[in-house]
Amino acid sequence: VQKRTVLLTPFLNETYKLHKVSIPEDVDLTLEISENMKVSADITQLQQVLLNLMNNARDAVEDVKQPVIHIRLNRFLPDSAFLAQHESAKNIPYAHLTIKDNGYGIAEEHLSSIFDPFFTTKGVGKGTGLGLSMVFGAIHSHGGIIEVKSKVGRGTTFHIYLPIIKADP
Ligand code: ADP
Ligand code: MG
Repeated sequence: VQKRTVLLTPFLNETYKLHKVSIPEDVDLTLEISENMKVSADITQLQQVLLNLMNNARDAVEDVKQPVIHIRLNRFLPDSAFLAQHESAKNIPYAHLTIKDNGYGIAEEHLSSIFDPFFTTKGVGKGTGLGLSMVFGAIHSHGGIIEVKSKVGRGTTFHIYLPIIKADP
């Protein structure tokens, strides 16, 4: 792991542009950044995270009539509910990245398995089941938090929280 200061706005713009080409054109794909933030990160790992989540979203919306994938970056200050829910959460500002799709969703009984290595619901030769386990490891090694909210037939949102590095004085 090679951590350095990453400016999230240029990082996201570039990574988004790079992976946009692998998403079908009929997908309503957007990236929205509220403000620039700095995090300490391994840029290669962070790119892999975004790539995996975008690819999963792309797979999920494949049979949707009006497919939507929205990526958003916001600044987030934990409230007491968030701190109570996530034992590794600290009372510090986080960069909050969400990847939201309106795809097939995740069955409730699968929610606890999706981050396990080799867990996949995709066909043989289609999914390795390694994407989300990589994502999980990477986010945790960055002191971050990941959570997922999903409804079958409605869609899925992944939330990633990475500690913000304070701006230079
Ligand atoms: P793979 O994509 O190779 O199957 P992943 O680790 O990336 O492996 O994902 C594991 C499983 O989690 C998927 O097979 C799928 O069942 C579920 N999943 C992940 N992302 C989504 C999503 N955006 N929408 C619906 N299901 C998802
Ligand atoms: Mg995947």
